[in-house]
Amino acid sequence: MKVAVYPGSFDPVTYGHLDIIKRASQMFDKVIVAVMCNSAKTPLFTLDERVKMIRESVSGLNNVYVESFSGLLIDYCKKENIHIVIRGLRAITDFEYELQIAQTNKELSHNEVDTVFLTTSLQYSYLSSSVVKEVASYNGDITPCVPDFVADTLYKKYGFRK
Ligand code: ADP
Repeated sequence: MKVAVYPGSFDPVTYGHLDIIKRASQMFDKVIVAVMCNSAKTPLFTLDERVKMIRESVSGLNNVYVESFSGLLIDYCKKENIHIVIRGLRAITDFEYELQIAQTNKELSHNEVDTVFLTTSLQYSYLSSSVVKEVASYNGDITPCVPDFVADTLYKKYGFRK
């Protein structure tokens, strides 16, 4: 069985992430979305909130599971016996960082963990969690970027909804 892990902060999940998850779920037997709790960034949402928002968004995909992890991704992969990592690429600006991480994971895992890159669908190439948060913080319209319940959660976080 081909199992792949899609790691990220998902703070919060966007249609860009969901597009990658959906496409990956058609390529692999099982996809685990692994939400990082040791990100260098300080997240807006708690780990539980981030996991819950993704679970709700992927409820229609029966080979997708949402978990959380802390520590090194390669340690998580070893524990779960996973050899494939999925990452999304939006633009050339993502490339250098992603290449470095992918090569580090490959080296540290003694070639046990490889990374598969999926390029973003064009309509989501501008989307990032940071931009979505920025727009929501000014009560701007984020409905083209995230599912409705994620938008509601964001507006509530910024005090625009009860
Ligand atoms: P990070 O893990 O760097 O904190 P994110 O949680 O924002 O990043 O994203 C996780 C993965 O999803 C990364 O590989 C990122 O490049 C990818 N990604 C983010 N937004 C999009 C998008 N709009 N289209 C395709 N891939 C994306």
